[in-house]
Amino acid sequence: MSENALKVLYRLRNAGYEAYLVGGCVRDQLLGREPKDFDVATDAHPEQVRELFRNCRLIGRRFRLAHVRFRDEIIEVATFRGVASPPDEVEEEDDEAASDVSETTRVTDDNVYGTIEEDALRRDFTVNALYYNIEDFSVVDYAGGMADLKDGMLRLIGDPEQRYREDPVRMLRAVRFAAKLGFRIHPDSEAPIFELAPLLADIPPARLFEEVLKLFQGGCALETYEQLRHYGLFAYLFPQTEESLEHEEGGFPLTFVARALRNTDERVNGGLPVTPAFLFAALLWEPLRERSALLQANGSPRMEALQRASDEVIGEQIQSIAFPRRFSVQAREIWSLQPRLEERRPKQIRSLLDHPRFRAAYDFLVLRSEAGEGGEEAADWWTRYQESDETGRGSMAGEEGENARGRRGRKPRRRRKGGEVRPEGETAADTAAAGTDEPVELASENGEGAAPGESTAPGEGASSEGEGGKRRRRRRRGRRGGRRPSSETPQHDPA
Ligand code: ATP
Ligand code: MG
Repeated sequence: MSENALKVLYRLRNAGYEAYLVGGCVRDQLLGREPKDFDVATDAHPEQVRELFRNCRLIGRRFRLAHVRFRDEIIEVATFRGVASPPDEVEEEDDEAASDVSETTRVTDDNVYGTIEEDALRRDFTVNALYYNIEDFSVVDYAGGMADLKDGMLRLIGDPEQRYREDPVRMLRAVRFAAKLGFRIHPDSEAPIFELAPLLADIPPARLFEEVLKLFQGGCALETYEQLRHYGLFAYLFPQTEESLEHEEGGFPLTFVARALRNTDERVNGGLPVTPAFLFAALLWEPLRERSALLQANGSPRMEALQRASDEVIGEQIQSIAFPRRFSVQAREIWSLQPRLEERRPKQIRSLLDHPRFRAAYDFLVLRSEAGEGGEEAADWWTRYQESDETGRGSMAGEEGENARGRRGRKPRRRRKGGEVRPEGETAADTAAAGTDEPVELASENGEGAAPGESTAPGEGASSEGEGGKRRRRRRRGRRGGRRPSSETPQHDPA
């Protein structure tokens, strides 16, 4: 139980107001789970709440809420709402994703306060409408939530169709809670979802971004994803991914996305950091690969195809979900690092390792290789490289220079057009493949990426390594007995 939540409750009660814990914290505590955050419901109006707490800010342009801030926790205090009050909105006023809060809800009445009973009935699920009274440890239940909690049943309050139409995000919340709590969605609450899923198209992309993070970064991403697909909701979140999955069901992409989500779950549940950049990079990887391959088939050089495909895939994705730029830039870096990690050009190894997105890109490469997409040898190599000391790294890089020459055909050093000497380890074949004499640049912080045609297309790297590579891989496997699971690998950069 949160000390801070208790302080808030007692101060409100001592000032003569009604105050209860409500929502997920009550539900989770009754289920013996650790609550994510603590919400308080009260009959005090937001301004009255502010008078009681120095550390209090009022947020929300449509429906005012009080945030009482403590060092490491915010307790959200909401005044009982009447039936006509707007559904919850994107509430983080300073979040760039929530830049247009005023358009995030459909119901337009502001600050319609009500009684506790009205407040209970405007909530989404019965199990989310339980109020806990700290004075006598009683639970106030106007919606039949206790019985549903015992039955493991998720049931919308009121007429399901009407409640979904009022706020279609409730369909996503149904799936999220069902997956997280292991509850069944009541048949009456479940039935309308299949038909009403298209209503998600009207939800502002900023709100959907917030919801997607809750769906996929809550520790049950894989289960949630499967249910979202079952109910036809996933297609309205990631339309391009859904399309890829549809025509390759059972094949590679399904494994890759599923693996990426399982990996995210392992990290979240193990207390490791996760970033939306990695999540989106993984979810959009298959559409990206397809688009990039198409562009290449139409004559674009590989790296240029990858960059253009990234623009197009992200451009299309942000029509449904606002994917803030600071994350999309990172997702693009993770993508554009894939062919470079596979290539391991001796001159680039150091700067690849120092790249701010190296860890995320390496984890991504490991996942790809585990999904059978290729890149196994490179993933293996980078794992060993990171484990090696300076001497080991030096000889690995040297060996890689040799291998690279072996792979590409040994060619004498030659003068470039501009007169400068070709960098060591780079051969004429590289330049020919690149179709350019531009110096090679690494992906930069601004996500601009490298010179066009510089490297292999995503997913192609290991398959083009030839027999020598395959032999080396067999040798290494035998020596090392396989690679570490990616959950043990270095971490992604925190968001
Ligand atoms: P968790 O925080 O564990 O994800 P939660 O149930 O606390 O789950 P919140 O989003 O924190 O979910 O919302 C707090 C409470 O506000 C919910 O329990 C529910 O009673 C109410 N609520 C939130 N969103 C909606 C909505 N879209 N429609 C109706 N009620 C909602
Ligand atoms: Mg909550």
